[in-house]
Amino acid sequence: MKMGNAFNIGKVFGIQLRLHYTWFIIFILVTLSLVFPNWSQWLYWVMGIITSLLLFASVVAHELAHSLVGRANGIPIKSITLFIFGGVAQMTKEAAHPSAEFKMAAAGPLCSLAIGGLFYVISRFTTGLSEPVATMIQWLAFVNFALAAFNLIPGFPLDGGRVFRSILWRTSGNYMRSTRIATQVGRGVGYLFIVGGIIIAFLHPFGLSWFSGLWLAFIGWFLENAASASYRQTQWREALQGVTAAQVMTSECPVVPSDITINRLVQERAFPGGRLCFMVADESGLRGLLTLSDIKSVSQQNWEVTQVKDIMTPVAKLKVAHLDQDALSILEQMGESDINQMPVVSEGRVIGLVVHDNLIRFLRTRSRLGI
Ligand SMILES: [Zn+2]
Repeated sequence: MKMGNAFNIGKVFGIQLRLHYTWFIIFILVTLSLVFPNWSQWLYWVMGIITSLLLFASVVAHELAHSLVGRANGIPIKSITLFIFGGVAQMTKEAAHPSAEFKMAAAGPLCSLAIGGLFYVISRFTTGLSEPVATMIQWLAFVNFALAAFNLIPGFPLDGGRVFRSILWRTSGNYMRSTRIATQVGRGVGYLFIVGGIIIAFLHPFGLSWFSGLWLAFIGWFLENAASASYRQTQWREALQGVTAAQVMTSECPVVPSDITINRLVQERAFPGGRLCFMVADESGLRGLLTLSDIKSVSQQNWEVTQVKDIMTPVAKLKVAHLDQDALSILEQMGESDINQMPVVSEGRVIGLVVHDNLIRFLRTRSRLGI
């Protein structure tokens, strides 16, 4: 699931709030789950919308709890994204101490428990007053308790998995090993959910519907994926520690004029030297950057009529890296902007190019050498 498919909806405490398009599925599910025979059509939709908004606020509160406690413990949070399975707070770096991770991870479920308790107390007062309101408040109390319970499952990268890792980390002192164990538990939980979901879908134990089964299997699949991805990221983080752009860049990007055709470029420049990148410049200076993937995007029969300047990435649109920027942040930036290469700039001049594939190859070589 790409978190790039989300849009900004505002800022809270200086943290960007983002809504992923899958969140709208939740809105529909929430509205559909509030089925009451004696409700009129309009009441049904109004209650659906209000309940969705309150659910939205509950999830935001949960993520804000993580974010604010994280920030207070030296883990800056860039943004919060709400998506189909809840929310994610994007950290700009991982916790440096187990206690910081413990506090940050526990804050979210604790917040959800508190909100659930609050709704429960309110529901005691509203029961006699209005049936729709009481139903909604009870539902919200239940959902917040469920949110806390689900997130406390001890599989990484769920909150419970992070709490579990922080405890392992504190007792063993070994961050990587703790992450590995917590991730394996996370993947195990994911598989259990998938198997459980399939059983429910086909055998309907306890009167559960095929839809609940499918949903559970879907969550399991997501958990397994998230656990594997988080672990890979942790490995990368470890492998790229202390590595800078200077160490992973290709420094041979020859300068080419902007008005030659792709055909000429390929025949005269790309083939002989096996180049990966070209700096496009004319009398007025650097105009853009051209890479092999740009060339590949043009079909071969058009090479004769396409000029370098037509397909290059213009200077204004280039995301650049600095010579001493760490390789991990470059990799993350590439993922966020969905780009495969970043020119490296020093004193206003492009001196090289970091290519995504090369970075991955670098990681593989390191892991093969066991460093
Ligand atoms: Zn959480």
